[in-house]
Amino acid sequence: AKRHEQHNLCFFDPGIQDAVNSRMNLETDLRQAIQDNSFKLYYQPQVDHQGCIIGAEALIRWPHPTRGMVSPAEFIPAAEQIGLILPIGHWVLESACQQLVLWSKDSVLEKMTLAVNVSAVQFRKTDFVKQILAILDRTGANPKRLKLELTESMLLHDLEGIISKMATLKARGVLFSLDDFGTGYSSLSYLKRLPLDQLKIDQSFVRDLLTDPNDAAITSTIIALAHSLGLEVIAEGVETEAQHHFLTTQGCRAFQGYLFGKPGPVEQVLSRHIITQSH
Ligand code: C2E
Ligand code: CA
Ligand code: CA
Ligand code: CA
Repeated sequence: AKRHEQHNLCFFDPGIQDAVNSRMNLETDLRQAIQDNSFKLYYQPQVDHQGCIIGAEALIRWPHPTRGMVSPAEFIPAAEQIGLILPIGHWVLESACQQLVLWSKDSVLEKMTLAVNVSAVQFRKTDFVKQILAILDRTGANPKRLKLELTESMLLHDLEGIISKMATLKARGVLFSLDDFGTGYSSLSYLKRLPLDQLKIDQSFVRDLLTDPNDAAITSTIIALAHSLGLEVIAEGVETEAQHHFLTTQGCRAFQGYLFGKPGPVEQVLSRHIITQSH
């Protein structure tokens, strides 16, 4: 009986009630945002060893009337739990493909790849492959410029099913990158079975590269591993020249981070880099 009372007490804790209320508001607001089409896609440049832009990652933004710019770290997990990630993810993919079509009309930009984050909930859907192919057909985007970012945690179950989905898309030219590499439950054995194109070194390793010898060792090992498996490797969260230099000495040739540009509206990302290329 005592335990039961405690449980009830907890439930009526005003802090929890606040959390419940704000969650319900979040859900209502998310539904409204989907209906109003009020999300925005930001783009963060990805550069090669010479600092030339080779692509971008699409990152969703939610300009909210009262909360300001809501971070995806805040609403994506909630959207996953209540199933709203499906319409949101669809909008992201469609917008990204439309952007690729715009870039394809420019002789410099046509080579850019666009990386899109895919949620586990989205990828697990049986019609995921069909959906991507339909978007590619409808927009006319070149599949070879679309790079889907998966995370390790979504590769834990039903490896055969995952490989078959990836293989179907791969046959059309779609690229795959393994995001946040090293932070999940990596199994080195699946790396050689998955039709991946790229490993993305997580920013948590890049951050303390110069002060934490373990992070430096992990980073160097990921770069060597990627190369020996014939995969590309990109480092994310590169903020300083010193990090960039270390990564370069270890053989990394692709970079993303504030050092090269913050995520922003598409014009902002391109202006800075087109200027770089023109002289
Ligand atoms: P992520 O995929 O690991 O994306 C990288 C995050 O690091 C982004 O945060 C980016 O703005 C940030 N970042 C980039 N460069 C630097 C840097 O130099 N230093 C630091 N400290 N941070 C940097 P963002 O945009 O807030 O996104 C957070 C997460 O939300 C993403 O992590 C991704 O997991 C998720 N997300 C974003 N857009 C989408 C989307 O369209 N769909 C899905 N399913 N998830 C998304
Ligand atoms: Ca990502
Ligand atoms: Ca990441
Ligand atoms: Ca991350």
